[in-house]
Amino acid sequence: MVRSAVRVVLRTRPTSKFAEDCIKMNSDNRSIVLSMPKREGLGVVNHQQESYNFKFDSVQHNVGQEKMFETCGEEMVRNVLDGYNVTLLAYGQTGAGKTYTMTGGKYTQASYSQRGLVPRTISDLFNMIKAKTNTAVTVRISYAEIYNENIYDLLDPSTQPTDLVVHEDAKGGVQVKGLCYRPVASEEDALGLLFEGESNRAIGEHQLNKASSRSHTIFSLSLESRDGVEGQERVLLSKLHLVDLAGSERLSKTKSEGSVAKEAQYINKSLSFLEQVIIALGDKSRDHIPYRSSKLTHMLKDSLGGNCKTIMIANIWGESAQLEETLSTCKFAQRMTRVANDATVNFR
Ligand code: ADP
Repeated sequence: MVRSAVRVVLRTRPTSKFAEDCIKMNSDNRSIVLSMPKREGLGVVNHQQESYNFKFDSVQHNVGQEKMFETCGEEMVRNVLDGYNVTLLAYGQTGAGKTYTMTGGKYTQASYSQRGLVPRTISDLFNMIKAKTNTAVTVRISYAEIYNENIYDLLDPSTQPTDLVVHEDAKGGVQVKGLCYRPVASEEDALGLLFEGESNRAIGEHQLNKASSRSHTIFSLSLESRDGVEGQERVLLSKLHLVDLAGSERLSKTKSEGSVAKEAQYINKSLSFLEQVIIALGDKSRDHIPYRSSKLTHMLKDSLGGNCKTIMIANIWGESAQLEETLSTCKFAQRMTRVANDATVNFR
């Protein structure tokens, strides 16, 4: 068994107002120091410490999309083709660059060089599959959104959330019953589904009056790889989940009421359950992992922990007005770096 930890990569969103006095990027490209300014007055958060040292697997400061793909994407594609289940999670406050990292912002308008991890992963995966002459790989795509603990099928908006049920098979494999898993034969097909899902999401946002930052999206590629001679065929199942998480900003800051407060509570809870699950997975003394505490962790059950590789990209927006959220993101990301899990490949 290979022992591998959650890989945590910190990415900064480029800004001309970067708070250099408060955020020091170390030259090792792995660590940063946050100095929190002293503040006085009612209702002001007082920090126990003035400065915080954080160390991650990698810090990507002001880098472009290609570099991000080299840092996170290439390895994921290799891993999923080797039979591992892989989950990549983009975490951070709204505006920190999660969607830009994953899809490339307003993808349809973005220039080619601004493509995010999802389209680059698709492209690389199909190139690698083409090069594998002795293996036949079938790829299926699903694209789900979780909003207020309801699952929506972005590839079939006519499906009601009540018809989508997370199902575990006897071997612990997870599928969402009722969700489309569409076979794709090429990069173009797969990109077509990404666009279709994005546009369904935009329509749904309008109809339900919800902001995209308030939901999680999970773009998944499920692979079935067959090799070997007839009679001795080997079938390898693996999947890659690319997750754009809802904004992690706290409720107190948004000062929200009513339905917005409800959204925020769902988000806070599901991000906190995600953390609890990942931390429990790294604690060998724990025999119960609370996967079923949220739709997100339940959907990712067979792709977090035992049979998987996990990468978290913590996105930060390094302006002084965002320092509290930056600190909170760094603390969350730091907790993730302390987690280890065992990865194995999944033969059928
Ligand atoms: P989030 O998904 O975290 O709410 P977005 O991805 O929507 O944040 O980013 C907010 C804005 O910042 C968008 O206009 C996006 O294009 C821009 N942006 C974010 N990260 C980068 C980056 N690395 N390079 C250039 N622009 C970025």
